[in-house]
Amino acid sequence: MGIIARIAFAVLAISFMTFVTFFGRLPIFRNTPIAWLHRAIWIYLPNTLSAIDQRLTSGRVTSYTSRTWNYMMYDKHPTILIFFFLLLCGSQYMYLPAAWPHFTTFNKVVGSLAIILPYLFLYLSAYTDPGEINPSNHARAMAQYPYDFSLFLPGVTCQTCRLLKPARSKHCSVCKRCISKMDHHCIFINNCVGAGNQHWFVLLLLTTGLQTLYGGVLGAGIIAAKVRTRYPGWSVWPWGNGAPPFKQYLLAWGWGIQDKVGMGAVTMLALLTSPLVWGLLAYHAWLIYCGTTTNESMKWSDWQADMDDGTVFRRKLPADRAKDPRVEPVWTRWPVEAEQIIVRTDDGKPPQSKHPLPGVGEWEPAWRLRDVENLYDLGLWDNLLDVFFPGYSFRDQEFPVAEQRGRKRRTKKTQTETNGEVEG
Ligand SMILES: [Zn+2]
Ligand SMILES: [Zn+2]
Repeated sequence: MGIIARIAFAVLAISFMTFVTFFGRLPIFRNTPIAWLHRAIWIYLPNTLSAIDQRLTSGRVTSYTSRTWNYMMYDKHPTILIFFFLLLCGSQYMYLPAAWPHFTTFNKVVGSLAIILPYLFLYLSAYTDPGEINPSNHARAMAQYPYDFSLFLPGVTCQTCRLLKPARSKHCSVCKRCISKMDHHCIFINNCVGAGNQHWFVLLLLTTGLQTLYGGVLGAGIIAAKVRTRYPGWSVWPWGNGAPPFKQYLLAWGWGIQDKVGMGAVTMLALLTSPLVWGLLAYHAWLIYCGTTTNESMKWSDWQADMDDGTVFRRKLPADRAKDPRVEPVWTRWPVEAEQIIVRTDDGKPPQSKHPLPGVGEWEPAWRLRDVENLYDLGLWDNLLDVFFPGYSFRDQEFPVAEQRGRKRRTKKTQTETNGEVEG
């Protein structure tokens, strides 16, 4: 059954290319073929096509295409959101009438949730304010996070919004506004993912992952049951003991879905796209675990590149450092403060104090990201708290808690050292 194999291959190829196109620039893929493919898609291919177009139509096609492309990618409009919504509706329309009668009561209850929840979280992700920063809420936005003197420095103004950039914020060129704790702009929800809606976005990924997996597995079960009426002992898993040759395996699939082609196609689409959704969810879970964002992980990766070049230096920031209230919040809800500053130099020598930089003591070279602290990582549970209850004040219980946290971090280190001594 060549056609089944071809559909499966096409869906896999499209999923893979979508993944590379949108996620190939992530730091994890640096120096891998995925990053190269991403560059090929975004730089080499457009450049080649535009060179050909220059010769043939003196660039008319390019200018039209790039206008359309810029509109698609960098203007705020719900095209992809509508596509995503229609994909969900269309798939369910093709899948449910054939599959529903085969469901047990339990699957009907769980299945209903799996159908409804992605719509709910899609709506909430798309229409919840991701954390727009404007003059009226600027002071509050500034009090969310302290500057870490690594990725975010006080005193930087957004050229467009003309407001001081709070720590962890970023200006979104699509939404044309600064967003608190900006992660990235997502065209599937036609909105930024930021402090205000990151939790809805994570739940959207989780429920979409569950829907594709659950629907895919149930669909495959129904098809397998049908196949077994003709080929007893046939299994969905093609690599078991006594499994038929692969060609025969695909033939059986083809026979199984022939009277329910719509449901079969959606089942395959669900099973093949599910890993993509779970991969994205795992990536966001990893970011939360590390206490960082997509935006910040890229900045960290730039720092790593400079550290490899040996041009990064760090030194201590005193705890009783005087803050300039014109550019830096005097109080934040965050329980810890920056204890270090890191800087890049052009010549690989420690910074010369032409412009006095904050901090005390000697500059030491920083070689590895492990040598510098991520101020925004409080540990998994507090990081989750920060994502799911944006604006939660880690200092509501007054300063002693903050002190304890600070002390806990320091004690942990001392304890390890003491343990080492005892063992040594
Ligand atoms: Zn801005
Ligand atoms: Zn945006």
